[in-house]
Amino acid sequence: MQIIKYPHPTLRHKSKPLRKVDAELRQIIREMFERMYEDRGIGLAANQVDLPYRMVVINIQGDPAAKEGEVVLINPVITKQSGTAEAEEGCLSLPGIYAPVRRSAKVTLVAYDLSGEERTYQLEDLPARAAQHECDHLDGVLFVDRLSSANQLAVKDALANLERQFQGDRSRGLIPDDPAIATRLTELEKLRT
Ligand code: ZN
Repeated sequence: MQIIKYPHPTLRHKSKPLRKVDAELRQIIREMFERMYEDRGIGLAANQVDLPYRMVVINIQGDPAAKEGEVVLINPVITKQSGTAEAEEGCLSLPGIYAPVRRSAKVTLVAYDLSGEERTYQLEDLPARAAQHECDHLDGVLFVDRLSSANQLAVKDALANLERQFQGDRSRGLIPDDPAIATRLTELEKLRT
């Protein structure tokens, strides 16, 4: 399981809800946590590992020993949001890029957990920010889409650099072409959504 980087097209895919939670899905989620810890992240959405599913893993402690901090959100929906807060964000799919993002200060979120139970979360501060960042991924939205125009300008060269790396990887055959990626996502959706 590898984390895909901007501008990989799966990052722009609007994911579909999962039909059920089973052992195979739990295994995928375990691997997502491991990948996230290895890459020193605090959240990871399924489409960042090239899977077209509405699920997210978060551990704002970023520590594999802190299992109690692990949150799995399956088919998450933000049902309420209030206030605004601005803080710096980064993303494992946009390595080296950090910029302030304005988001809701508090959110209420409904999601299924690993046992398939529906749960409601009242979040604020970093957990609220992480949840909004990850839920954005499921709709194909990246944090750089939400920057002020001044900050968009500030990250422009870094984005162009990632685009060049992506084209280079693709020309070396490391990344499939767009139709092949789309076909694979459709097949995966048929299995689980
Ligand atoms: Zn991200």
